[in-house]
Amino acid sequence: LGRLRARLAKSNSALGRGLLALLSRDTLDEATWEEIEDTLIMADLGVDTAGELVEALRERVRVIGTRDPETVRELLREELIRVVDPSMDRELAVAGPDGEPAVVLVVGVNGSGKTTTVGKIARVLVAEDKDVVLGAADTFRAAASEQLTTWGERVGVETIRGPEGSDPASVAYAAVEAGKGSGADVVLIDTAGRLQNKRGLMDELGKVKRVATRPLSEGHRIDEVLLVLDATTGQNGMKQAQVFAEVVDITGIVLTKLDGTAKGGIVVAVQRELGVPVKLIGLGEGADDLAPFTAEGFVDALLE
Ligand code: GDP
Repeated sequence: LGRLRARLAKSNSALGRGLLALLSRDTLDEATWEEIEDTLIMADLGVDTAGELVEALRERVRVIGTRDPETVRELLREELIRVVDPSMDRELAVAGPDGEPAVVLVVGVNGSGKTTTVGKIARVLVAEDKDVVLGAADTFRAAASEQLTTWGERVGVETIRGPEGSDPASVAYAAVEAGKGSGADVVLIDTAGRLQNKRGLMDELGKVKRVATRPLSEGHRIDEVLLVLDATTGQNGMKQAQVFAEVVDITGIVLTKLDGTAKGGIVVAVQRELGVPVKLIGLGEGADDLAPFTAEGFVDALLE
């Protein structure tokens, strides 16, 4: 985790350093506050949130009346944590009721890092001694189930897959059945990310969701629907996220590729605009490049 934090710090340190440099100027005049606001907006924090943050920070700096760098840094830290919102911190559901596996559906557009994320999550769970089954319900691209199977082998878990072009819902069903049968703790289902149109997506994901719950006892529904979002796509990614949010009840977000952007503010925008917690962040292509997300951990990495 220390290494991942360092990686996040590296990609975002320009932001943290920039803010601290602006705050430690001799005079904190109107122009400087505007620059601070612009810096936050450029980091994808969102215009309203950036404005709010600057206003609150400005007021606190005024009230405290000190320009001591440590104090100013602490104020910035507190205000950033406040906008990221620690009350949204949530862990991944990794246990279903009555010893049934927790069923986690992973959705998102192609290329967002879905399959990689499923592999990484499996790796974390296996390291925690959990039994995991993967379901390759992205049956539209042969490469997708191939890729997931490779992850499964790498991590040492079973991957349930179907022939190319087969019904994604039936693969999801078979994966949950297999997980239930083998007493697995978690079934992770990779889905197709074709964002053809809302109707099509709704039909497809709706069916996967419905059918995947059939092997489960009454009342046990999908435990998590994780939306995977590429942090480097900014506002475009937000639009995609909104479409998914309208189609399925998303319980958590995985923000990938945060290693490749200094626009870490997108985390805040996503949580605020969708009202869904960011649960995990992706910080690289490797199997270990996944970290749980907390407001405090994120801001501390930002200001490192
Ligand atoms: P999918 O189409 O949504 O299943 O996406 P993939 O899992 O195939 O990932 C698409 C590309 O993004 C691959 O090259 C991954 O290695 C890469 N990728 C996934 N997550 C991350 C991440 O957190 N950081 C970086 N730098 N690359 C990532």
